[in-house]
Amino acid sequence: MITRVFDARLLYQTQDVGEKFRRAIADRPHISPTTADGAVASVNHNRWIVLCSCGSGCAVDLILHRAWCFECGTIYDGIEVPHDAAAIEALLVKRPKLENRNWIPGESLDQLEDENRQNGVV
Ligand SMILES: [Zn+2]
Repeated sequence: MITRVFDARLLYQTQDVGEKFRRAIADRPHISPTTADGAVASVNHNRWIVLCSCGSGCAVDLILHRAWCFECGTIYDGIEVPHDAAAIEALLVKRPKLENRNWIPGESLDQLEDENRQNGVV
């Protein structure tokens, strides 16, 4: 059973996701990187993400508070990550199916615990 919620570093298995991004878009000259801020992290299917304006989900680096859209080249800086991210993860990883590990901003720990209880997750 997977016991962590993936951030960009875990998902891409590197400590330098920015370098992976630069190599990826170097092969795609039609993409010119742009930056954006004001994004808010959420958890979707066991991954910390932000939703890009292109519609893609971008994995968040929880240390840098940054995400890279490998589809359109947008780099999100200053991502808002909840102060209780570790507690959110602890409740989500109790859920056996990755597709049920979701959290949206504003959803409380009590709500996650209630959902767990209602679905027999203890
Ligand atoms: Zn994008």
